[in-house]
Formats: sequence, C-alpha cells, structure tokens
Amino acid sequence: MKVLKVDHIGVAVKSLDETLKFYQDMLGLELHGTEVVDEQKVKVAFLPVGDTEVELLESTDPEGPIAKFIEKKGEGIQHIAFRVPNIEEAIAELMGKGVKMIDEKPRYGAGGAKIAFCHPKSTNGVLVELSERE
Ligand code: ZN
Repeated sequence: MKVLKVDHIGVAVKSLDETLKFYQDMLGLELHGTEVVDEQKVKVAFLPVGDTEVELLESTDPEGPIAKFIEKKGEGIQHIAFRVPNIEEAIAELMGKGVKMIDEKPRYGAGGAKIAFCHPKSTNGVLVELSERE
C-alpha cells in the first residue's frame, strides 16, 4: 500500500459563506474555487494549504450525507483523504486485507478526482477517503 500525502481534509459546514470568513479573512487562506457535486449533494470550497488542502462541504439537500452528518455530530471534520497513485489497486489491496469499503469501486469526487471511502468501522472511527488525481 502506498499513500502519497494527505490530499485534503473535509470539513462539514452549515454555510460556506459564513465559514469562509474564518478561513479566508482570519487565516488568510485563498479560495481556489467551488464546485457542486450533485451525486453527493454537496457544494465544495477548495482552500489549498501547502501541498494539501481544506475542503469545506456544504450540503445542497437536507437529505444529503453532509446534512445528516451535521445533524448527528454538528459541524466539524468529516473525513480525511489520502492520495494514492492507483485507486483501483488501493481498493483491491485494502479489501484483500479485510478492510470494509463503502465504495468498492471508485466514484467521481470534487476536483475531478477518483475517490472511494473506507468504512469507519474499519478505520477506528475516521471516515477515510482514498483519492487519485492528476
Ligand atoms: Zn473528500
């Protein structure tokens, strides 16, 4: 198994506009755009930090996974994404080692990445995302 770096940290927020006041105005991070990912019912704001980034996630639907996360746990860190060189290989290797995957096949992620989530039951509670991108 090879992990290249922390690709991003996903933070669930109620309002991108409200939250950007802290990340942009207080921390001085730059907003490198936003994207709506319909499949996940989420609007994502990208804020690069060094060679990783913070992704703020605002739900576009009260039934979406981010809305449900906030309902249960409140705003906060929702997942950590690790960059892998080949996501199909990474999924196969983890499943071979008995890791439970939410996604057994990669799906589309924000920023044009191929992503797959590991089940928190297999990761001691953290929602871990694998991410492959150019
Ligand atoms: Zn992510």
